[in-house]
Amino acid sequence: MPILPADGQTFETETDVAVIGAGACGLIAALSIKEAGVEVLVLERDDTPTGSSTLSTALIPAAGTKLQASLGVEDSAEILTKDLIAKARNQNDPDMAFNVASASGPMMDWLISRLDIEISLVQGFLYPGQSAYRLHTTPNRSGAELMAALLAATLKADVDIITSAIVTDLFADEDGTVRGLRITRPDGATEDIGCKALVLACNGYGGNPDMVREFVPEMADATYFGHVGNKGDAVKWGVELGAAVADMGGYQGHGAVTHPHGTLLFWGVMTEGGFQVNLQGKRFSNEVRGYSEQAVDVINQADHVAWSIYDEGAHELGLQFIDYRDGLEVGAMKTANTIEEIAEVTGLSLDALKETFADIAAVRAGKKKDDFGRDFSTSETLEPPYYAVRVTGALFHTQGGLVIDNNAQVLREDGTQMPNLFAGGGAARGLSGPSRWGYLTGNGLLTATTLGRLAGLASAELVKS
Ligand SMILES: Cc1cc2nc3c(=O)[nH]c(=O)nc-3n(C[C@H](O)[C@H](O)[C@H](O)COP(=O)(O)OP(=O)(O)OC[C@H]3O[C@@H](n4cnc5c(N)ncnc54)[C@H](O)[C@@H]3O)c2cc1C
Repeated sequence: MPILPADGQTFETETDVAVIGAGACGLIAALSIKEAGVEVLVLERDDTPTGSSTLSTALIPAAGTKLQASLGVEDSAEILTKDLIAKARNQNDPDMAFNVASASGPMMDWLISRLDIEISLVQGFLYPGQSAYRLHTTPNRSGAELMAALLAATLKADVDIITSAIVTDLFADEDGTVRGLRITRPDGATEDIGCKALVLACNGYGGNPDMVREFVPEMADATYFGHVGNKGDAVKWGVELGAAVADMGGYQGHGAVTHPHGTLLFWGVMTEGGFQVNLQGKRFSNEVRGYSEQAVDVINQADHVAWSIYDEGAHELGLQFIDYRDGLEVGAMKTANTIEEIAEVTGLSLDALKETFADIAAVRAGKKKDDFGRDFSTSETLEPPYYAVRVTGALFHTQGGLVIDNNAQVLREDGTQMPNLFAGGGAARGLSGPSRWGYLTGNGLLTATTLGRLAGLASAELVKS
């Protein structure tokens, strides 16, 4: 992934702004650039753009949107900022958090009214750390649906996307001004394309085992559930160009990937009173801190698995998610009418399960404090029929990346701007701080969509000026 000297280099094709990566970030950046009347070209390594965006549940946090207002939901950039900072224990960048939170509402209004994307608000339960109903999503809560809608919008707007085009090199001046890039085709042929500005929308390094081992060693042996083509190219190029990186240990994990089925179990089953036990039938953590930090806790159990136990109410909520329905279809969920039946379908010790149920009842009754500090008063006691699902922990995507300013323009170590380089989504530093526990639900698509919009608008403005 080298940076090649631009001096003396000629380009077969030229564009105003080049965007690397056709996930949610890249497509939103490209649509914003086109809307500003500036020429844009998207380069995508796969033959069909998917990215981690397609794999996602499409939960996009946005505060102060018209949709929220129409449903009477009170929210604001200030409240979202507070939630982001609280979840990351003050270890994310507060200015960046406020900037992204402030831009999230207008971005969502634009997605709905300008791009005509069908979006609804998830209501009925709150994800850990979110203090308002602000997760906006597609009808089936599906990343594939979101990506199909974004691709349809790019088609309508006549945005050029070159697929099967891995960007292998950038051409730059000594001061870091990017002049162009080289794509390599599946047959090995290369093409050099000139640009006046570059948006890096090629996500993080979850698909690069060496980088995962270096920056997130605790997840080095975990299943990677994101897009394998995300190999850390943005970080590698940025660093070589002199950009600053931050929070490289930050990531989104998930503590409930069904095992061995490999579908995603909706985390609301935990916030609605569910819990996880290990193969000894014992709880091992406070499940409602968040699903990201739960990944390591699950991986640290025997056989790297746990059983998620919940009831019909949570199951009903889960049915609105296509991932959950996929799990049902492949037989990941087992049902039981009594604790004895849970023991039968899971193979767990009946005595241990009875003890766990009794322990939670004692906490609910105020007779003892939960060993893991969980507050059970925010949910109801589980009622039969019960559901039991075997799960493991996985790495979804990395959150560390290039440091940017309020326009998603990449910054050097000394805080000055790189001349014409922008980054968003997983390519940029996220809002989760340096660890697994700072990830607030939706932080991935929050920065993919909102920074994509900001990077698109600012790069177009730069080219125009
Ligand atoms: C199972 C799962 C569920 C998730 N659910 C949610 C959710 O509900 N809400 C949420 O906020 N986040 C969620 N996430 C995280 C979210 O999917 C990502 O944070 C987000 O999609 C990142 O968007 P992006 O555009 O930056 O990257 P991507 O969507 O991954 O797009 C990057 C693109 O760049 C391309 N690319 C990479 N390198 C190159 C190169 N050198 N040349 C050309 N192309 C290149 C890739 O092929 C890819 O298409 C989930 C993740 C997973 C895995």
